[in-house]
Amino acid sequence: MTQQAKPVMGIGSCLAGNAVRYNGQTKSPNQYVRGLADNFEMRAFCPEMGAGMGVPRPPIHLVGSETQVRALDVDTHNNDFTDKLTAYANTVLSLAPELCAYILVKGSPSCGYERVKRYGENGHTIASDQQGVFAVALARLDPLLPLEDDGRLNDPGLRESFVTRAYAYHDWKQLVARGLSARNLIDFYSRYKYLAMAHHVPSYKALGRMLADAGKRDISALAEQFVSTLMAALTQRATRRSHSNVLYHLSGYLKRDVPGPERQRLKALIDQYRLGQIPLVVPITMLKHHFANSPNAYIDSQVFMAPYPDELQLRNLV
Ligand code: SF4
Repeated sequence: MTQQAKPVMGIGSCLAGNAVRYNGQTKSPNQYVRGLADNFEMRAFCPEMGAGMGVPRPPIHLVGSETQVRALDVDTHNNDFTDKLTAYANTVLSLAPELCAYILVKGSPSCGYERVKRYGENGHTIASDQQGVFAVALARLDPLLPLEDDGRLNDPGLRESFVTRAYAYHDWKQLVARGLSARNLIDFYSRYKYLAMAHHVPSYKALGRMLADAGKRDISALAEQFVSTLMAALTQRATRRSHSNVLYHLSGYLKRDVPGPERQRLKALIDQYRLGQIPLVVPITMLKHHFANSPNAYIDSQVFMAPYPDELQLRNLV
């Protein structure tokens, strides 16, 4: 890892242990949310408190059509908090411009990531087809910001993808802070090649083509195009097949230095991983062992080899 500072992650304040829910309670974070706290600087925000709704407060819910909902108080539908909750997304990004990801809160009409309940004017449930109004605004203001909710983080694949994107976005923001140039954009891509390949081969190729004439292009426009393509690629779920493809590529760099029988053992591990018999951490550990004995600066620089700290153990279950 080349990052120095801990990446900064936003989190719904109730999940961070603060008694800010409408009824003055907290919401217990699951073990996976708690597990991220050591590796990120967590910044807690409560949009409903930020909107001046106080605690305890009357609960709100989403009312309207599939394409247009308002956040109204449950009892009377006379008080509309939509605009204040929407505006709070701007406040969050101004208070923490270094945010590299955000953990939303399952089911909340403000902070829900997906499948939030929608009600009719008569107060009856119509469907569970919404996002919270704050969550929608956050995604609109920063489409690159990785978002998940505490419920979805129970899924090992979603969790791994979320953390991978969080570290990548942090890395990107550090690059931008150092200053953009064609050279450092190319260096950045060079480190992300195999990670991008593992997630989405067409994007990996598109990124390479995009940088072919980097020196002749407007650097800000190029950087914007580059990072949106990279983050969109990382949003694609890497599969056992696509990961194996990268592992086979990387093992090719050992041809000269590692004897045939050991390379055969490595290949057998990659095959076992591809067939779903062992987790990703096993062939990766073996690869790291070989590259520790036969160092290769290019492979050492690859984010694929360590997209986040090993102690997060995210490759043990995918
Ligand atoms: S608005 Fe969001 S952070 Fe605040 S209590 Fe509700 S779910 Fe939690």
